[in-house]
Amino acid sequence: MNRPKAKFDYDVAIIGAGSGGFAAARTTTAAGLKTVVIEGGREVGGLCILRGCMPSKALLYASEVLHLTRHANTWGLRIPKTGFDFAKVMARKDWMIEDFASYRRKQLENAKFAFLRANARFTDSHTLELSAIDSPKLSRKRIESADHNIHLPSVEGPGVSFPKTLRAKYFVIATGSAVSAPPLPQLAEVGYITSDHALMLKRLPKSLIVLGGGAVACELAQFLARFDVKVTMIQRSPQALRDFDVDAGNAVGNVLRRDGIRLFTDTKLIDAWRDGRNKGVTFEQNGQRIRVKAEEILLSLGREPNTARLNLENAGVKCDKARIISNKRMQTSAPHIFAAGDCTGPYEIVHIAIQQGEIAAKNIINPRKPQTTDYRLLTNVVFTDPQAATVGLTEKEAAARKIPVVTACYPFNDHGKSLIMEALDGFVKLLAHPHTGEILGGACVGPMGGELIHEIIAAMAKRMTVHELAVMPHYHPTLAEIWTYPAEELADKIPR
Ligand SMILES: Cc1cc2nc3c(=O)[nH]c(=O)nc-3n(C[C@H](O)[C@H](O)[C@H](O)COP(=O)(O)OP(=O)(O)OC[C@H]3O[C@@H](n4cnc5c(N)ncnc54)[C@H](O)[C@@H]3O)c2cc1C
Repeated sequence: MNRPKAKFDYDVAIIGAGSGGFAAARTTTAAGLKTVVIEGGREVGGLCILRGCMPSKALLYASEVLHLTRHANTWGLRIPKTGFDFAKVMARKDWMIEDFASYRRKQLENAKFAFLRANARFTDSHTLELSAIDSPKLSRKRIESADHNIHLPSVEGPGVSFPKTLRAKYFVIATGSAVSAPPLPQLAEVGYITSDHALMLKRLPKSLIVLGGGAVACELAQFLARFDVKVTMIQRSPQALRDFDVDAGNAVGNVLRRDGIRLFTDTKLIDAWRDGRNKGVTFEQNGQRIRVKAEEILLSLGREPNTARLNLENAGVKCDKARIISNKRMQTSAPHIFAAGDCTGPYEIVHIAIQQGEIAAKNIINPRKPQTTDYRLLTNVVFTDPQAATVGLTEKEAAARKIPVVTACYPFNDHGKSLIMEALDGFVKLLAHPHTGEILGGACVGPMGGELIHEIIAAMAKRMTVHELAVMPHYHPTLAEIWTYPAEELADKIPR
């Protein structure tokens, strides 16, 4: 007897097995929904593990250790010969990334959800068409044309068999982001590398032009400069780290300059060209035309949502340019299709992608009890040395949103533990409500800034006031006790 065909193959289909997609899959599966995850990347693991947070931080940490050894005489230590073996530095990073990625592969392959290795795109609002993952040959050619000798993996994951189409009742799109196209067509002709390539270099270039001044640009520029690459950074905005307050951006910019980086701010890119083996760019600054050249150019002007190949119009999912438009429930314009992570934004941050994936999943599981995003505790960390971190409001954002705040800062060059560490750059800053004293934001540019900001995340999560923070015990001598100074200053100003 022929059984009638089920209307849907799955309750939920999730496109993309990065941070957002994996979080969504774990949540729907735990609630008993029949779930499939479709991953079309050549490697399994997502951006954070493979080409984002983890490899970049592994390399930055190595560059920080190198920097410390080179300045060991500060503490009266004699290290007569410092140096590095770049192949070993990269090998350690590769080993760590493989460890993280293989753990994630096991989680995906042994999960209770189905895991398919294919590219997905919509043919209608409930149907996906699946196709084979890009041929490695094609991609290898693309990368070689960028003039770079980097490791290229073959397709990873379980067998390549998958159905041609599948139907699901609900979807979560979590397809991440890709490096934005270059702003000048000449750059494509001249050739450039991206963060993907910079994290896989087999050989260090002698000199490098970094286009961009955001988190990834600053981190990679400092890593390479500390490994003796002559780095020139060219950025459009007037300060490094445009989204941070001016004091924070300048504190990081000053250290980049001290590390030997030529940092040009407030510029307009005009042209890109080749000069023999070198690549060059021309830009304007203060009405002057400036030409710089180097062995390589790193394009780090941002990323855009990876949605071009999804045929979203077939599913009725609306986009703003490439970005999938979603509401606070992570629901798109097609109510049964949700989105999470870099493909929908507005922030390209791992823990936000995870939260969004979980929220999307929970709204699929129980639409009657809606879960929504809340960015009150939005946290940003840049892992340069000094690290730059914020939570909640910045002064810039408070001004833009006309939210009244009072602020107080304290510098690391006047704090016991940072003096011991000779980590004198930067400061901490608190923003508080002028009447209640509730902490509305915090910034830390300094040693372990990414760790120290978590005290303020916890304080803000519990809606603590500066008065409460000021009297909270802090062990001495620690970096963390620096928060008590701005807290005390504000507590004195704001009557209880
Ligand atoms: C150099 C660098 C450093 C970074 N450092 C940090 C950091 O320190 N901290 C931080 O919070 N964030 C950092 N980020 C950002 C962070 O990595 C991303 O925000 C996060 O990984 C995005 O997760 P996601 O799930 O949205 O996307 P991804 O992890 O990119 O996952 C998307 C997946 O979808 C797959 N896919 C795409 N299209 C299809 C399709 N059609 N069919 C099937 N599968 C598809 C892709 O292969 C990919 O595996 C960094 C980013 C970069 C580039």
